[in-house]
Amino acid sequence: MRKELHIFTFKDLLEHFPHRHIDKTHVDTIASLNHNTEYAQVAGILLDFEIIGAQRSKRLVAHLKDQTGIIELVWFQGIGWVEKLLQVGKAYLIFGKVGFFMGKPQIAHPDLEIYTTQNATGKSHLEPIYPTTEKLKAKGLHAKAIGNLTQELFKQISEKDVLENLPENILQQYKLIGRYQAYQQIHLPTNMSNFHQATRRLKFEELFFAQFSIQLIKLGRQQFSRGLVFEKVGELFTNFYENEMPFQLTGAQKRVLKEIRKDTASARQMNRLLQGDVGSGKTMVALLSMLIAADNDFQSVLMAPTEILAQQHFNTIKAQLKNIDINVQLLTGSTTAKNRKPILAGCEDGTVQILIGTHAVIEDKVIFKNLGYAVVDEQHKFGVAQRAKIWKKNTIPPHVLVMTATPIPRTLALTAYGDLDYSIIDELPPGRQPITTVHRFENGRPQVMDFIKEQLKLGRQAYIIYPLIEESSKMDYENLMKGFEEVKSFFPEPKYWISMVHGKQTSDLKESNMVKFVTGDTHILVGTTVIEVGVNVPNASVMVIESSEKFGLSQLHQLRGRVGRGAEKSYCVLITGNKLSNDARERMKIMTETNDGFKIAEKDLEIRGPGEMEGTRQSGALLFKLANIVTDKNILEAARDSVANILENDYELNAPENQLIKNYLQLQKTKTQWSKIS
Ligand code: ADP
Ligand code: MG
Repeated sequence: MRKELHIFTFKDLLEHFPHRHIDKTHVDTIASLNHNTEYAQVAGILLDFEIIGAQRSKRLVAHLKDQTGIIELVWFQGIGWVEKLLQVGKAYLIFGKVGFFMGKPQIAHPDLEIYTTQNATGKSHLEPIYPTTEKLKAKGLHAKAIGNLTQELFKQISEKDVLENLPENILQQYKLIGRYQAYQQIHLPTNMSNFHQATRRLKFEELFFAQFSIQLIKLGRQQFSRGLVFEKVGELFTNFYENEMPFQLTGAQKRVLKEIRKDTASARQMNRLLQGDVGSGKTMVALLSMLIAADNDFQSVLMAPTEILAQQHFNTIKAQLKNIDINVQLLTGSTTAKNRKPILAGCEDGTVQILIGTHAVIEDKVIFKNLGYAVVDEQHKFGVAQRAKIWKKNTIPPHVLVMTATPIPRTLALTAYGDLDYSIIDELPPGRQPITTVHRFENGRPQVMDFIKEQLKLGRQAYIIYPLIEESSKMDYENLMKGFEEVKSFFPEPKYWISMVHGKQTSDLKESNMVKFVTGDTHILVGTTVIEVGVNVPNASVMVIESSEKFGLSQLHQLRGRVGRGAEKSYCVLITGNKLSNDARERMKIMTETNDGFKIAEKDLEIRGPGEMEGTRQSGALLFKLANIVTDKNILEAARDSVANILENDYELNAPENQLIKNYLQLQKTKTQWSKIS
C-alpha cells in the first residue's frame, strides 16, 4: 500500500481521492429497470439458485423477487463461495450493473448483502470507487477495500482532525464549504451536488496555497532582496537610441522598456517575464536595456537556447552597435579554446560589456567582474535552475529578464512563472502583413512546389521544414533526406540553390549553410526545427511545414513566425498526411484561422493539457492533485486574487481572520504528520 500508492498516513488516505462514485442511495424496483439503467440497487427474496453448465461455461444462476418483478443474478467466478453464502427464502440487498438477457433484467457478479432494517432504504451516501493497482488488488486491496478503509477512517476522525485553513470571509465570499465537510463529501457524498461543492472547495484550497507560496516568494524578493541600481541613462543608450536605432520603437516596446527601467533603478532585484508574440521585437528591448546596464558600468549576458540563435543575436547586435564604442563578445560551446581565453579574461576584468551566447555564458568557469543584468531568450528551453545560477553570479544578484519564444497562456504564467513580474508586448511593428496560412494534404505537394517557384521568381526565398522530433531518430532523418532529394528534383541546380540544415551537421557546416540562406545565395532552406527559434531572414516569404500533424501548436506558430518579417506578403503551407486525428485536424484549423500567438497558446494548453507543456513537465508546477489549470481557470483566478488581497493588506498574517492560514502554513512547515496507518 505504501509504495504502490504513496499512502503512508491518514492524511494521504484522505487525499487519495476517488475517481468516481456509484449511486447506492436508493433502492430500485425491478419493474423500473430498463435499457437506460446503468447501475441498480434492488431488494428482494431469493427464489432459487442453481449451478449450470460445465467447465468453462459453468455458472451460478439465481433469481431474486421483489413486489414488482424478478431479476436474474449470475456468477461466473467464485461459484463455490457464493453457493455457500446464498439461502433461498432470505431477503438480500444487491447492487450491480444491469444488463438485459432475452429481454429480462440481469446482474452479473452483484454486490450482495443480507437485507436488514438498517440498509432498507439503501446507503446514505454514494459509494466511492478508488484508483488502485493490479498489485494491490492481488493483495486484496481492491478499490472497494480502500473505500472501506476510508469509511472506517471517517468513523474515527472529526472536525478537529481536519482543521479549517481558510478564513471565514473567504469561505463566504467564494461560497466554499468547510474543510472537514469537503473531505467527507468528496469521499462519501450524500448526493452529487455535495460532491461537486466538495471538489470545488478542495481545488480552491489547493490553488490557494500554491499561489500563496508563489506570491510570497515574489513579494519577499520585491521587498527584501537588495538589487543593483542602474542610476542613469547614459551616453551609450542615448547615442544608440538617437542616432543608430534602425526604427522607431512601438508603443508596447517603449512601455516595457520603462517597466524594466523602473525596476532596475529601484534598488530591488528584478525578475521579469517578457511575453510577446513571434516577431514583436523583444530583442531590441533586450539590447536597449543592456546598454543602460553598460552605462552604469555593469556587465550583461544574453543567453539563447541554441548556437545558431546565439550567433544570430551576436551578428545582429554587433551590426547594430557598429558605431557605438562597446565591447560585445560571443561565447558558445563551440568557441575554440584559443578564442575563449581572452573572452573569459575580459569577463573577469570587466572589459567585456555584453556577453552573448548559449548557456555556456553562465558556466562556473565564466567569472564576471560585475555582472548586473541577464537576459534569457526563449525561456522554455531553460530550466528554473539556470535562473538561480544567474543570481549567484554576483554578490548582489543581477537583474533577470526572461523572454518567451511564443506567448504562454495566462493560467500557465500564473502558476509556472507566478514568482516573476510580467511585461507584455502586445503590438507588432508597423507594416507587417498578416501571414496567409493554408493546409494541404501531401498529394497536393506538386502545386505547393509550383507556388514556391512563383515566389522565387519574385525574388523571395522559402523554408521547407521536416519534423525531427528526436535529433537522433533514424526515421525522421531518413524522411528529411528523402524530402531533400524530392525538393532537389523540383528545384534543379543551377537554376535554384538549396541549403540544408539539421542537427547532425557540425556547427560549422550548419552555420555556413545558414549563412548562405541569410545572404540570399540559396533560394530554399530545407531543414529541421533547429531553425525554429528566432532565425531572421526578412526576404523569406514562404514557410512550408511537412508532416505538420507531428508538431504542436506552439511549435507551428513559432515556425510560421520565421516568415512575414519583411514588407512582403508571406505564406505558410501546412502539409499533412491524408489521415488525420481529430486533434491534428483541430490544430490545422486553428493555425489557418488565426495569427494571434496568445490565442494559439490558450488553445494549445487546452488541447494538450497542463502536464504536456514544454519546460514545465519536469517542474511539476502545473500538476495538482485535483485542480486542473485549464478547466479550473476560474477557481485559479479567484484563488490568485484572494491571495493577492490578503498579502497586500496583511503580509505577515497578523490579522485575527488570517490565523487559520498562518497556523496551517506553520503546520506544513514542521511537517507534523498524522498518526501512521498500520
Ligand atoms: P521576437 O520578439 O520574435 O524575438 P525580434 O526581436 O527578432 O522578434 O524582431 C523581429 C523583427 O522585427 C526584427 O527584424 C527586428 O529588427 C524588427 N523590429 C523590432 N522592433 C521593431 C520596430 N519597432 N519597428 C520595426 N521593426 C522592428
Ligand atoms: Mg526572438
